[in-house]
Amino acid sequence: MSGPTPKPGIMNIAPYVGGESSLDGQDRIIKLSSNEGAFGPSPLAQAAYTDAASDLHRYPDGGCVALRAAIAELNGLEADRIVCGAGSDEIISLLCQAYAGAGDEVLYSQHGFLMYAISAKAAGATPVFAPETNLTSNVDALLGAVSDNTRLLFLANPNNPTGTYLSGDELWRLRRELRDDIILVIDAAYAEYASRDDYTPGVDLVDGGGNVVMTRTFSKIYGLGGVRLGWAYCPAGIADVLNRIRGPFNVGSPALAAGLAALGDSEFIERARTHNDTWLEWTRSQFLSLGLEVPPSAGNFVLVRFPEQPGRNADIAEACDTFLKSRGIIVRRMDAYGLDDCLRVTIGLKDEMQAAFDAFKEFLEQI
Ligand SMILES: *Cc1c(COP(=O)(O)O)cnc(C)c1O
Repeated sequence: MSGPTPKPGIMNIAPYVGGESSLDGQDRIIKLSSNEGAFGPSPLAQAAYTDAASDLHRYPDGGCVALRAAIAELNGLEADRIVCGAGSDEIISLLCQAYAGAGDEVLYSQHGFLMYAISAKAAGATPVFAPETNLTSNVDALLGAVSDNTRLLFLANPNNPTGTYLSGDELWRLRRELRDDIILVIDAAYAEYASRDDYTPGVDLVDGGGNVVMTRTFSKIYGLGGVRLGWAYCPAGIADVLNRIRGPFNVGSPALAAGLAALGDSEFIERARTHNDTWLEWTRSQFLSLGLEVPPSAGNFVLVRFPEQPGRNADIAEACDTFLKSRGIIVRRMDAYGLDDCLRVTIGLKDEMQAAFDAFKEFLEQI
């Protein structure tokens, strides 16, 4: 007898490893490894979370009615077509479970978010990626990678970890040329940070056809990664499918309360956005001045690539990471994204960015 065996594909999953949050022997840590909002959670969200404690014996509202209504109001959406999840990770997973299985393909962009491949494999499907150009998703390459078996196409816009994005025009071209039995999932986790005129989070695309889903999260600008809260805006048929397979109480009551309060604190979000605009720009130009490659970013992070030293850049990235840690600074290694010559740095507070810049500078001076 051999023991229990999981479905095919599952043992091929390399488990997701989150950003590190502590260092041995260091009590003051600067954590710039997980793209968490620089300001933490809004005080209103914290208070609502604490207030929820007295009702912890009650099941949450499984329909997330109040939160969906508030999201709909804020974004001009139909509440019935919003589905909430324990982070947008759960929504990504539910989409794969519902629409892809053995023999099917799930398509994404070369340096796309890791959860797409993980969720595809967990559903028994095969992840397929299309090459990027200049660390940017390429619509023609994505369309060229579509096969008869493609069921879902995930596109993070802006993308994590590259920070680059596709314009609304490019998204529309992708959607127009994509078969309409394939779901285009626009993962707009960083939408609140993206400020360019030609950017769209994708609501127009969801409303423009039956096969586009937009996902959003409370983990980034809202600073609520710890409560696990995200949502999707879907065509009615897809919302119906997700509601059939999700857990009946997939979002807990503290998350619902914190999320609702966070949506009401528009002043906090505005401050966070302004802070990011300033320090994203500062960080990118400072790193460029050190001779590092930094693609333009529309998110709250930058990808930093070490200049060409053939064969050595991965070692330099690793050595830099070790050096930063010795200064109490945690950034993200990018090996899992096929970018082992890069580090990703989240935009934190002013002092944190200055410390990160000083440490990079010191490292580069001594190699
Ligand atoms: C951070 C991130 C998410 C958010 O995940 P949650 O499960 O909502 O915390 C989703 N997509 C991308 C591209 C991300 O970077």
